[in-house]
Amino acid sequence: MNKIFLYNTLTRKKEEFKPLKKGIVSFYQCGPTVYWVQHLGNLRAAVLGDIIRRVFEYDGYKVKYVKNYTDVGHLTSDEDAGEDKMEKGAKREGLSPEEIAQKYINIYEQDAADLNIKEPWKKPRATRHIKEMQTMVEKLLQKGFAYATPLAIYFDVSKFSNYTELSRQNLEKNIIGEGSGDVSDPAKKNARDFALWFFRAGIHVNALQFWKSPFKSLLVKSGEGFPGWHIECSAMSKKYLGNTLDVHMGGIEHIPVHHTNEIAQSEAANGVKYVNYWLHNEHLLANEEKMAKSSGTSLTLAELKEKKFNPLALRYYFLSANYRSPQNFTWEALQAAQNGLSGIYHKIKELGDKKGAVNVEYKDKFSTFVNDDFNTPGALSVLQEVIKLNISSEDKLATLLDFDRVLGLDFERTLNNKEEIPVEVISLIEQRKKARAEKNWPESDRLRAEIEAKGFSVEDTKEGMKVSKK
Ligand code: AMP
Ligand code: ZN
Repeated sequence: MNKIFLYNTLTRKKEEFKPLKKGIVSFYQCGPTVYWVQHLGNLRAAVLGDIIRRVFEYDGYKVKYVKNYTDVGHLTSDEDAGEDKMEKGAKREGLSPEEIAQKYINIYEQDAADLNIKEPWKKPRATRHIKEMQTMVEKLLQKGFAYATPLAIYFDVSKFSNYTELSRQNLEKNIIGEGSGDVSDPAKKNARDFALWFFRAGIHVNALQFWKSPFKSLLVKSGEGFPGWHIECSAMSKKYLGNTLDVHMGGIEHIPVHHTNEIAQSEAANGVKYVNYWLHNEHLLANEEKMAKSSGTSLTLAELKEKKFNPLALRYYFLSANYRSPQNFTWEALQAAQNGLSGIYHKIKELGDKKGAVNVEYKDKFSTFVNDDFNTPGALSVLQEVIKLNISSEDKLATLLDFDRVLGLDFERTLNNKEEIPVEVISLIEQRKKARAEKNWPESDRLRAEIEAKGFSVEDTKEGMKVSKK
């Protein structure tokens, strides 16, 4: 197995990856809050997680890749203030939070399929793991790391000595005020304490999503309420991956709050180190600022498709920057990526369909880049070198297809399709692949009919789906 070096936010160093269990990587990535269509920034995070997972697989690891759906408890501010995002979405659209979650999970999964993101091993939903979260909160109460007020159960940050290990922040500088400075809950001991469980009281008295709990509150005898956002990831990662994970990933904005809080809860409850390697991806920018819904700069994949962009051009564009570098989105850059990718597809089509042997020298070069903190721009430069290389078409094709196990640009499809297939048909093909992988035959048939209605025939062969112009 090749050595993988990755930049660990915890140590601020590039380190050699050593798994807890030989040949296996336990990998948790914070997933989306499903209250709205995910924008291209969110999708960058999703593609980067997929690429990192693929690099581990390319090196022969079995990857237990878990990506959650947050469908309760994420308030409009990451620091426990404001309204639950799901409820906001529900009110906006006149649907229930459950309906909102399903609607946006479906859109997200569709986008993920279009971007050739492999299915995670597990996709836990927060609302389906309330019991696990409550068990963890009970443990924290028993061990004296948490306390209850009439409005919530909080984690007592003063009891956890390593609280700033990940963020290296100076708490004195960052907190709003010492003592019971929180306006929303005067009984909170310290402003930096964060909520593990919100009772259905105070500003959350009309919460739409709530569960009974074993916790006691003067105001809510049944303990009814909902979990805080941070405990969700701690409880779900523990359930599927155990007390200590190899790798945990998320956006850089999660370092000072969400991941810092996850570490505190998990280590206090479980008594062991939570994560060995913390990976943080930089943001996608728009006008040099983080692409965000709140600033009105967010774009969706649907908008790209409307403008006839191939979703894989977006993937190729994401590959052209390192995951730890910010990337500023422009239409020109996306167009350049689409042109570049079309050029690669064109070259691949010229190679015929016979596969020879993977070129060892160039595979090594490629591996060295991807195993060096997932250097995808470097990997793309090796791809270009191979395209120009003077070797047999068969070997060239085999080498490019081998690289595509990491890149995920779906070279195989190019090989199978001699004609230009329009973007909307490509999207239907990806959806049908996903439906078939999930053994959802009615959906697969429906999509076949839709593809055929657009003038293409579909054939399911041993090598996969073949689509050609009728
Ligand atoms: P959210 O739905 O806001 O909880 O975000 C879901 C994921 O997308 C998180 O891991 C964020 O770090 C990530 N994210 C949000 N905005 C951006 C952005 N502009 N660029 C990259 N990642 C982002
Ligand atoms: Zn998380």
